[in-house]
Amino acid sequence: MAPAEVDPSAPGAVKILIAEDEPVSRLRLQSTLQRWGYKVTTAGDGAEALHEMQKPDRPGIAILDWMMPHVDGLDVCRSIRATADRDYTYVILLTSLDREEDIVAGFDAGADDYITKPFSLHELHARIRTGVRIVRLHEQLRAAAMHDSLTGLLNRRAFFEIFEKEVSRAKRQQLSLGILMVDLDHFKQVNDQHGHLAGDAVLREAARRLRRRVRATDVVGRYGGEEFVVALPGSDLKQAVSIAEEFRHCIASEPFEVPSGRLTMTTSVGVVTTWDMAEAEHLLKTADEALYRAKAAGRNRVVADLRTAA
Ligand SMILES: [Mg+2]
Repeated sequence: MAPAEVDPSAPGAVKILIAEDEPVSRLRLQSTLQRWGYKVTTAGDGAEALHEMQKPDRPGIAILDWMMPHVDGLDVCRSIRATADRDYTYVILLTSLDREEDIVAGFDAGADDYITKPFSLHELHARIRTGVRIVRLHEQLRAAAMHDSLTGLLNRRAFFEIFEKEVSRAKRQQLSLGILMVDLDHFKQVNDQHGHLAGDAVLREAARRLRRRVRATDVVGRYGGEEFVVALPGSDLKQAVSIAEEFRHCIASEPFEVPSGRLTMTTSVGVVTTWDMAEAEHLLKTADEALYRAKAAGRNRVVADLRTAA
């Protein structure tokens, strides 16, 4: 079935910040944008605007009045651009300054667009629709850059980024964190004997089975070829081993459908948990070593690194 046509500039869930120190203009803008279907949040000066931009559900679009007391729109814009490791914020400056050097200064501060006062609401609406399209495009690019296109799981780089944060959080809160390295046994034979389409089908189905068994807080990634990695926040070694056994069972218990028929697959799993001071990279290496012990011991089994039992 073809996906439904979606207007990429429709308001949807995009939230807009209006930062304007003049109350009448602010209220008028707020009610107009709400009438157009946008979620709106407002700020009466630059400091409030910065505060709004630090919230977890910060706006995707910021309409900033240039002239505001204390922190002006240009400074707010610079500050938004200085924090690069987050979703893109599309910035529209509102200004009565329309000299060439002012416009250049606005773009240099990181603004995407500007509109000079007094402005027509039609024009503002059109500029906001452009902003929504850009914000959506950034979201799509970000999602594509983070996920493995075959399985839909996090790719290795994105997994590691999230995993590092989970490891620091576990240390900070003194919580346990289980790590599983899951590898399909004899996967190369699938590709060699049944072709790469069959190999792809097996990987997709294995990923689907893994994902079905994890909680929303668990993190699953494709670590490489036929190797998957799972982080289980809050799980100790015993719990992680039990989840690993479930994974092993869900792969082995039901054959995989491929174009040439049905294949029985098994997995080997290495399990570790966080321990004092262990860095993310070292944890993954230790889980990998446990996985290779599972392979060496005959595959289709779970091996835990007991040194990591807290
Ligand atoms: Mg002003």
